[in-house]
Order: sequence, then structure tokens, then C-alpha cells
Amino acid sequence: MLTAEYDSAIAQRMQDQHRELAARWFERLLALVPVQAPDIFPSAALLDHIPELIVQISGYLRDPAEHAISANTAVLDKARELGDLRHVQRASLHQVLREYQILWVVLSTFVVEQTEGLGSEAPPGGVATLLQRLQGAVNVLSQATVETFVGLYTATIREQAQRLEEFTRLAAHEWRQPLSTLQVGLAVIRHPNVEADRSARMWEVVDRNLRQLIDVTQKLEAVTRLRDLGDTPLVQTISLTTVAQEAARQLRDMADAKSVELVVQDAMPEVTLDVGRLELVLLNLLSNGIKYADPRKEERRVEVTAAPSPDGGCRLAVRDNGVGIPEHALNTVFRRFTRAHVDRPDLSGVPGLGLGLAIVDDCVDALGATIAVESAEGLGTTFLVSLPATQG
Ligand code: ADP
Repeated sequence: MLTAEYDSAIAQRMQDQHRELAARWFERLLALVPVQAPDIFPSAALLDHIPELIVQISGYLRDPAEHAISANTAVLDKARELGDLRHVQRASLHQVLREYQILWVVLSTFVVEQTEGLGSEAPPGGVATLLQRLQGAVNVLSQATVETFVGLYTATIREQAQRLEEFTRLAAHEWRQPLSTLQVGLAVIRHPNVEADRSARMWEVVDRNLRQLIDVTQKLEAVTRLRDLGDTPLVQTISLTTVAQEAARQLRDMADAKSVELVVQDAMPEVTLDVGRLELVLLNLLSNGIKYADPRKEERRVEVTAAPSPDGGCRLAVRDNGVGIPEHALNTVFRRFTRAHVDRPDLSGVPGLGLGLAIVDDCVDALGATIAVESAEGLGTTFLVSLPATQG
């Protein structure tokens, strides 16, 4: 048998059996992947890619000049898609490399087996050349996958680093202001000649600023707790009016200080869900409505309403007539450490870390609900929470 005939025969068999080979690859992978990591497990989506890659590799084995893998944009795109997919599935780099290593083992074993099947017909040295070619093809593909994969991770890390930097800036600002007020307030109180009413006023200032520090700290704790630990939900059947009234009660002082009226609709539907999370959602949305009230408007309002939705769930709305959110920021306000009014000097005094809506988003997710925002600058903002029919 001539070398070209041999190459072609093995390549043809590989092509004919590409699905079985992909299944073999998958089985070996299954044995390796830790069971406790189902979210990074290569899913059916990945299985769509591998058979296709095997077909392309077989074409290259048959005719490396015509099917040069490094020049085949379609197959390189497939390999890059794989990198993208594994990034979305949060696989590790080690795992991606392992997958290609397994592909190499499965395909090279196949080539050796098929060659042995040909017995003395196989040309001398044919298998060595073919394996070398195979190795080259797998390397090119794995490089394309890994480059995409690492590129995406690098971008994610860069973005996270930027957000962390921004957080440090905001957190320092957020803590510095009440801390220096506390320092000044305590110095006044300690002064031997301070008048009684001045001292009383200062105690109030101290109290308010301490509460602000506690609030910031609690928000930070809430973010880590919600994301990383996942707590034990307390599922109850409760009227939305009761939960919203409780949230409004907790924020009464804050609303009074900014002359904002809090209105809770009577007789809203009952829901069965994790009440703690729903309360956190309402507390954050209502307090934002108060914080971003429009000082130029005579009547400032934040209103909670709800109505049953056609799917058996319920639609909760928190509507304010505040300053509104600029359109360009509507898509990003739910991200951690993101603030939408950084270019508004008149709002620079509004305290915040850009965490409230991220907490809301986490809670909404955990409730199996969804959230949307509608806003117009100068007119106001509405947050719409669609709660599912029941929450087990
Ligand atoms: P912050 O601590 O800055 O208030 P949030 O995550 O609660 O953080 O909100 C993110 C940003 O979205 C805010 O900084 C603000 O610019 C904007 N925002 C949120 N809610 C409202 C609202 N009801 N009205 C106007 N802007 C809002």
C-alpha cells in the first residue's frame, strides 16, 4: 500500500467513525470530571463541536496541503467557539487542556489500532508520519481554543480589577465622610464649654453618621452573603402590602428627612416566597427612590403597587418621580459598584456604593423572579419585579 493510500484509508475511517470517536472522547472525559462540578461539565453543546473537529482533522490527515488546519478559518472558528463555550461554562484552563489531551489519546489510539488492522499492508513509517500530523492538528486547534479562552478570562479579570479599584475609591469616600463628621462631632461634645443644646444636636449627628456607617457595612455583608453562601430561605405566604409596609416603616425617617412621601397600595396580592429577600429588594428600591428624589419638585413620591400577572404570578412596581436614570446607564445599574450619576455634581453628595441594585438583582434571581427598569431623566423611575406563581 502506498503512503498516500494508507493516509487516505485511515482518514476515511476516522471520518466514518467521527461520532463514535467523539462519544469515546466524551466517555473518557466523564470518568475524569469531578461530580461535584456539574456547572463546568462539558454539556451537549460541547458535543456538537467535537465531531466536527474530528471530521476536519481527518481531512487534514488525508491531505495536509489542501486541508491545512492553520489556514482553515471555519475549523479554527469552531475551536475558538469551544474556548468561548468553556469560558461561559466556567471550566478551568487545566480542564480545557485535558480535553485536548484526551482527544489526542483517543485519535492516536484509533490510528494505531487501524494501522495494526492493516497488518503488513501498512507502509513502513506510515503510522509515525500520520501521528505526527495528527499531533500538529490537535496542537493548532487546542492553541486556538486556549487563546480564546485565556483572552476572555484576561478581559474578565481586567474588568473585575477595574471595578475593584472603583469600589475601593467609592468605599473610601463612603467611609471617610461619616468618619470625619464623627471626629468633628465628638470633639465638639468633648469640649468643656459646649452648650447643652449644641451637644444634643451633635449627638444626633453622631448617631446619624454611625447609622450610615452601619448601613454601608451591612450592604457589603449582604452582597457577600447572598452570592457566596446562599442562605436558608424562609418561605412564607404573605401579603405584599405587609412586606412593603414594613420596608416603608424602616425607611420612614430617611423619607421624612428628604420630604418624600412613601405610598404603599392597600390589598396587594399574597405571595409565597422567601420574605427576607423580598424585603431586601423593597428596602433597596424604596431607599433609592428616596435618595434620588428630585429636590426641584414640590411633591416627591415613591409608590409601591402590585397586580396579578396572567401567568399566575404577580407584578410588583416601585415607582418614583425622582431625578431618573440616564438612558446610557439603564443597562449597567444592576452591576456591582456601578453608579449612574457620577457626572452630576448636584447628586455627588448622595451616599452610595453602587451595591443596592446588585443586591436587588441577586435577591430577584434567588426568588426566581425578574426585574426591569424604566426611567426618564427628570420624570422618574419605575422598577418592575415579576414574581413567579409560587416559590418553593
Ligand atoms: P447606590 O448605592 O449608588 O445608590 P445602587 O446600586 O442602588 O447604588 O444604584 C446604582 C445607581 O443607579 C445609583 O448610583 C443611581 O445613579 C441609579 N439609581 C438607582 N435607583 C435610582 C432611582 N430610583 N432613581 C434614579 N437613579 C437611580
